[in-house]
Amino acid sequence: MSSNDLAEKIVDLRSDTVTRPTPAMRRAMAEAEVGDDVYGEDPTVNRLENRAAEIFGREAALFVPTGSMGNLLAIKTWTRPGMEVICERRAHIANYELASISAIAGCMPYTAPAPGGILTWELIEPLIRPNVYYYAQTGLIELENTSNMHGGTVYPPDVTDEICERAHAAGLPIHLDGARIFNAAVALGRDVSEITRHFDSVMFCLSKGLGAPVGSMLVGSQEFIRKARMSRKLLGGGMRQVGVLAAAGLVALEETPKLLHRDHENARYLAESLAQIPGISIDAKAAVTNIVIFSVAETGLSAATICEELARQGILCGPRDKFTIRMVTHYDVDRAGIDRALAAMRALLVKTPA
Ligand SMILES: *Cc1c(COP(=O)(O)O)cnc(C)c1O
Repeated sequence: MSSNDLAEKIVDLRSDTVTRPTPAMRRAMAEAEVGDDVYGEDPTVNRLENRAAEIFGREAALFVPTGSMGNLLAIKTWTRPGMEVICERRAHIANYELASISAIAGCMPYTAPAPGGILTWELIEPLIRPNVYYYAQTGLIELENTSNMHGGTVYPPDVTDEICERAHAAGLPIHLDGARIFNAAVALGRDVSEITRHFDSVMFCLSKGLGAPVGSMLVGSQEFIRKARMSRKLLGGGMRQVGVLAAAGLVALEETPKLLHRDHENARYLAESLAQIPGISIDAKAAVTNIVIFSVAETGLSAATICEELARQGILCGPRDKFTIRMVTHYDVDRAGIDRALAAMRALLVKTPA
């Protein structure tokens, strides 16, 4: 078996970051017009930034190498060292970004657990610090939509609208980690511009379900993006002929959102089928986008053990914690791949006495 045949047999549900660039992306990369982006002279980067700003109805946008850097630039721009950032307990910024919020921006995350990862103003308000000199002051509120570690859940627009309105009334800026905001928009049947319009800044990833090999975007006001661009350079993120990457990002931005509904249908099918397997517990109706998280506690096996066993069959997924597993659908996994994953899971759990 060639390594290509083997690669085709693998069903990789670890993340939507594993997508490979499409032929259209590779063509666009090969043909991209480029210049030195630190001089603002890369026409393809400029096109990507203008188009992202236009799609989100904002003044400006910035191409960044990663979503983590985009979030960090937003946090640095909105806060001063010594401030707190309010976010949900499982938020990406508080768990999966190496504490850059503290190590680099000098801030503390102040978290609240929320059912399904969906914060409300009632959960946020008690975390806002009174203006007493010995308290760290609240510098920023951050929401994540969709919520990665809660299984791709989506904020109802009236909830985000209310949080933004109250945050502003309290004099606080609000940043959206919209790594998968296009998945949220598809699930809601709304435009990204509409569901993000009250946030002061938005980060979204080109490199997740949209399928670009590299890159995320930060969008906001001209003034916000000017500051974020300086911080990007400060962190060593000033890139040169990066139009070769922006070209793939443009294809991802224009072409992939209309395909995301398929990933959502596959995720729902996966969730509903998993729910039928003895030992697995999952609320299949909660799988509204492309992330499926389920408990294997009743199997008597740990999530890590199950993931290792599945990997032997070419089915890749990851434990979220000791007894829960996360599977993420994307355009490189089709319905047949999902069926292979389900068959491997059934074989494993039927064979192993609980
Ligand atoms: C993936 C992700 C990011 C950023 O990821 P990078 O790997 O740094 O590009 C940020 N927030 C959420 C919710 C994510 O899922």
